[in-house]
Amino acid sequence: MKIAILTIGDELLNGDLADTNTAAIAQILAENSLPVREATTIGDREEDIVATLQRLARAHDVVIATGGLGPTEDDRTAKATARAFERSLSLNDKALMQIKARFSAHQREMHPRNEKQALMPSRSTVIANQNGTAPGFHLQSNQADLYCLPGVPHEMLAMLEEYVIPSLLNRFPNPPLQCQRVITVFGLSEPDVESRINRNGLPEGVELAFNVEFPMVKVKLRSSGETAQRLADRAELAVRKALGDHVVGIDNDTLAGTTARLLSTAGITLALAESCTGGLIAKLLTDQPGSSTFLERSVVTYANSAKTNCLNVSQELLDHHGAVSAECAEAMAKGVHAAAHTDISLAVTGIAGPAGGTGDKPVGTVYLAMISPGKERVERFNFSGNRDQVRLRTACTALDWLRRLAMSRLSGEEWES
Ligand code: ATP
Ligand code: MG
Repeated sequence: MKIAILTIGDELLNGDLADTNTAAIAQILAENSLPVREATTIGDREEDIVATLQRLARAHDVVIATGGLGPTEDDRTAKATARAFERSLSLNDKALMQIKARFSAHQREMHPRNEKQALMPSRSTVIANQNGTAPGFHLQSNQADLYCLPGVPHEMLAMLEEYVIPSLLNRFPNPPLQCQRVITVFGLSEPDVESRINRNGLPEGVELAFNVEFPMVKVKLRSSGETAQRLADRAELAVRKALGDHVVGIDNDTLAGTTARLLSTAGITLALAESCTGGLIAKLLTDQPGSSTFLERSVVTYANSAKTNCLNVSQELLDHHGAVSAECAEAMAKGVHAAAHTDISLAVTGIAGPAGGTGDKPVGTVYLAMISPGKERVERFNFSGNRDQVRLRTACTALDWLRRLAMSRLSGEEWES
């Protein structure tokens, strides 16, 4: 089965809006073993929509289109579709009922213009939109099946899941089995990851690809056929063996998500003192639902005076060693620990740049300090990259320290006391 995606909208071509619909659709199709052969983006010109729909319908079995179903003049998908497939454009009663029902459910007057959204090519099936006014439609011709969906991402996705995917699986019941496994790796470079995996080898028939999503390396394993699932499981095991505890997550897991889960499972409480990350570590952790079970506080102490006031870092220490120093990081961790009384406290201080670097402490110099029962750890890092990259790598390194600590706690390592 050959599937094409068509995204429609001037704003996608003039740089105003990044097309996220194509990737979102492709991902869900891939999860259902329905691979995409082509993806195309065009503007709102009716002529272009007609010509592109005709070309795609000739070359493919299925076309999934998004955008241009709105009530305004510049939304031309339904009209262009009718022309492309030589159908009349007529008021679809079922679509009109759905639009009216939606307005009355929200106790709003329907604007006469919204009636336009019920104009559809004849003999198409309405695809209900639970999250917006524009219904979609499904048109079957002897060339291809066309699914037209609205452009608004969450509306489009719900309709894809509820109607399009079941419809495709119904029409093509036995798609070839495919499996993709994504392994997220932190703390190793891309070439390093590759050579470690190659040294250990992978099961025959598994495709391997790499992606950098700074600062993570993603390892993608693809397999197909009857044993796709089993092959992916075996390949994942081989990669885990090759990369050890640099593996921070599988498929949709993130470093922050994994860290939060482990901290919560281990019953560890945490307080943070952040300088150069400006609260980023806390942001990444509090993005995770349930983070209040382990995160007690994060204090952002940017100026020296804040480090002194909030964390009791002494003026002598700051004068003598500077705010970016092992001594300061340690004092920050101790200061927040004294106030919060959590199991762990962690502090970061560093120079994110672009200014502020010196000969012995260039931009990218970062100190992390962590205090856990009976243990203190302070380390200097020299990160490369721009301001955003230094900050993100610092935050991820902090998360990684916490992840590893929670893992060792869970694997039965006792706190020293
Ligand atoms: P509406 O009723 O909102 O007009 P529509 O079906 O006509 O819906 P468009 O007008 O094309 O859809 O797009 C509506 C909004 O959906 C756009 O402003 C944009 O925010 C978003 N959108 C459209 N296409 C895409 C796309 N390919 N990727 C991401 N977002 C998109
Ligand atoms: Mg629109």
